[in-house]
Amino acid sequence: MAKRDYYEILGVSRNASEEEIKKAYRKLAIKYHPDKNPDDKESEEKFKEAAEAYEVLSNAEKRQRYDQFGHAGMGGNGGAGGFGGMNMEDIFEQFGNIFGEGFGGGFGGGQRGGKRVNRGTNLRVKVKLTLEEIVSGVNKKIKVNKFIACKECHGTGAEKGSSYNTCNTCRGSGRVTRITNTILGQMQTASTCPACGGEGQTITKKCSSCHGDGIVRGEEIISVDLPAGVEDGMQLSMSGKGNAAPRGGIAGDLIIVIEEQEHEYIKRDGSSLMHDLYISFIDAVLGASVEVPTIEGKVKIKIEPGTHAGKVLRLKGKGVPQLNSYGRGDFLIHVNVWTPQHLSKEEKELLEKLRNSDNFKPHPSKKDKGFFDRMKEYFG
Ligand SMILES: [Zn+2]
Ligand SMILES: [Zn+2]
Repeated sequence: MAKRDYYEILGVSRNASEEEIKKAYRKLAIKYHPDKNPDDKESEEKFKEAAEAYEVLSNAEKRQRYDQFGHAGMGGNGGAGGFGGMNMEDIFEQFGNIFGEGFGGGFGGGQRGGKRVNRGTNLRVKVKLTLEEIVSGVNKKIKVNKFIACKECHGTGAEKGSSYNTCNTCRGSGRVTRITNTILGQMQTASTCPACGGEGQTITKKCSSCHGDGIVRGEEIISVDLPAGVEDGMQLSMSGKGNAAPRGGIAGDLIIVIEEQEHEYIKRDGSSLMHDLYISFIDAVLGASVEVPTIEGKVKIKIEPGTHAGKVLRLKGKGVPQLNSYGRGDFLIHVNVWTPQHLSKEEKELLEKLRNSDNFKPHPSKKDKGFFDRMKEYFG
């Protein structure tokens, strides 16, 4: 079969510019690309034909020889069979040069030297916990909106009855190499296969439900055991519970960000819990039994007669458990004495009687700890 004229193949005139030739070839290459026309022999032939024509016409020296001698002039490179020995690999190497690295698109972040494994992206979700939940540890069921594997194709991206074919461009390796001439000599560069995005295979028919991605938007209820002692802002990573990866790759991680809800009566400082207790002036003087809210419920504590405001009482081991270790912090009760703001006439008279009593005048001694002593004692 006689070879067609190269200019005719590309559909350009005999004095077409380099740019025109490149443009014409780009159009044909995209049109007849094997990945776009799977199992189509005619397209494949046209694809090869165009590549061959471009190979010659894009090279000034070869073009000149072709112009002068026609196809007969192309056999000179030692091969008895002349030209036409261009295989798919050669064609795709040439591709890199005209289409650039980005041709074919694909999902970012491939790996060097090998087939790309698709990776799903990580997801972050905030989980609000009460102080009670933090102290006891809790199991949470979290509803997550994310990419999940397509149920129609089981995440493969292939329509029923269709199959995976080894990528024609990279022959399954996911990489293409090309040789560039530079002033420093020939340089070989490897890059992600533009046709398959580095996966090494292509699908004959894409799943209609996920358009070949193998993933769709969906919802998953994820059960997570949050250990006791976690803190606000802490991040826990659940491997493989993030977004599913396209076409059966490795799913991303689910990152759980802890948000601690404020408690009405109890404050937290690391593994310590603290409560501001207000007692009456009378209770402080005469002593009393008062209720204190702890995480485990109300606890009765004894106020000794003559208790000073500012005293700190300690419930050992009633604080927050240490994360990843044994032991539990303490529950600290800060005693405040409530000073009445409104008094009846009788009350005022009663107190006036006490004002000048010597027992009601302050006489601090060494054993009465002040604020700074208490700070030292409890916080080091
Ligand atoms: Zn490929
Ligand atoms: Zn699908």
